[in-house]
Amino acid sequence: MNYYYENDMFRLEGVSKEHTISDIDIYIGKGILKNTSYYVQKRNLGKKCLIVADNNTYHAAGMKLSEILNRGNIETDVCLLRDRENERIEADELAIGQVMMSLEPEPDFLIACGSGVINDITRFVSFITKKPFVSIGTAASMDGYTSVTSPMIFDRKKVHRHGSAPKILVLDTEVLKNAPTELTVAGFGDVYGKYIAKADWLLSNITTGEEVDKQALSLITQALAKLTDNVEEIRNATDEGLKAIIEGLILAGITIFTTGQTRAVASVEHNQGHIWETRMLEAEKPYALHGTAVGCSTGYYLRMYEYFKKIDISSLDREKAKHRILNREAFRKQVVKCFGESFLSVLEKSNKCLNLTEEDFENHYNSIVNNWDKIIKVLDFLPSWDEYKNIYKKFGQTIHAEEIGIPTDLLTYTLPYSTFYRDRYDFVFVMNILGVIEDITEKTLKDYQKEK
Ligand SMILES: [Zn+2]
Repeated sequence: MNYYYENDMFRLEGVSKEHTISDIDIYIGKGILKNTSYYVQKRNLGKKCLIVADNNTYHAAGMKLSEILNRGNIETDVCLLRDRENERIEADELAIGQVMMSLEPEPDFLIACGSGVINDITRFVSFITKKPFVSIGTAASMDGYTSVTSPMIFDRKKVHRHGSAPKILVLDTEVLKNAPTELTVAGFGDVYGKYIAKADWLLSNITTGEEVDKQALSLITQALAKLTDNVEEIRNATDEGLKAIIEGLILAGITIFTTGQTRAVASVEHNQGHIWETRMLEAEKPYALHGTAVGCSTGYYLRMYEYFKKIDISSLDREKAKHRILNREAFRKQVVKCFGESFLSVLEKSNKCLNLTEEDFENHYNSIVNNWDKIIKVLDFLPSWDEYKNIYKKFGQTIHAEEIGIPTDLLTYTLPYSTFYRDRYDFVFVMNILGVIEDITEKTLKDYQKEK
């Protein structure tokens, strides 16, 4: 499947004539914010709206947006989310309460003017109040613009709540390029991580026969190519560069829509990012942006994939590997250091990989060994760790987890066991089956030490 533009609307070949996907209209382009009234009228969303913004996004786009809509005879009200000084605004009780209480006078529709958190908040309120919403993106920072779930904080814990997808999504590169560099680099990391997701999916296809959706894979491949072709442009925050990231993020979101799952866009690199976030939240410590964490996590796994490809499959000790993973008590003692006790107890109830039988082990092991040549061949497309490091150096972004706030001891345990975050087959799981994971983790951490 290929994508193209028609009057700034993002289009997919052979998909719906009216909208980009499902009933979402996605517009990407330079200076298109001014067309928002027209986009809204086209969808008959009404004449009154509530704009949800924070101080930064209000100045980046909200104020101008309000004028544009007023000129188009659309009344606007603004819910300015309360500034929290040194703390980030979260999709939590305070923010939701603020938006809910701003629904009087009653608007016809909502507008999320912002990126991650502001969209999470608005998407949830839109779902609860059944009022449609429009998203005006202010940063190319994450792939959740078209998502229908909202990661939120409730009672200081991370939860996932239902949300609506926006009816209209407007991504104006002139707005996006004014976002802080940190946000753009986060968006880059979120897309770059798809290399790992793609590799793991192809790997699983070979060893377990898991079906690969060719369309989704082709979209992801296009997104990655666009990204790596535009590193210079991205660094200089040009319209072309911003467009490359945002297209990657949108394509990733679209594959979730078309395949009904996140297989094409998230694997161990995302697992590790999620675990870091959960553990930091638990410890009441600040945590990095989603894309920053995913991008950082991706570097480690690219290095581990390099070692993975060098495994001498004929010289492995199968009995030792079996004993290691089937000796439940000893194995659990390690894995618990990754997740913490309460989190692991929940995972154990549903996660098949944490309850392997000897037969499961034998089946996995045999399938890996028998297909080893095929596996190595299919991984050919992966970029090298050096390529990754060069890009991050260009962006002036650290590659070290410690420097984005992750304690070294946590990293030591998330790297080898992040696979158990969900029941999904990936190369970290394979290395656990083969019994080589601790060794490869250690080598990788040593390589990172040398980079300091
Ligand atoms: Zn992501």
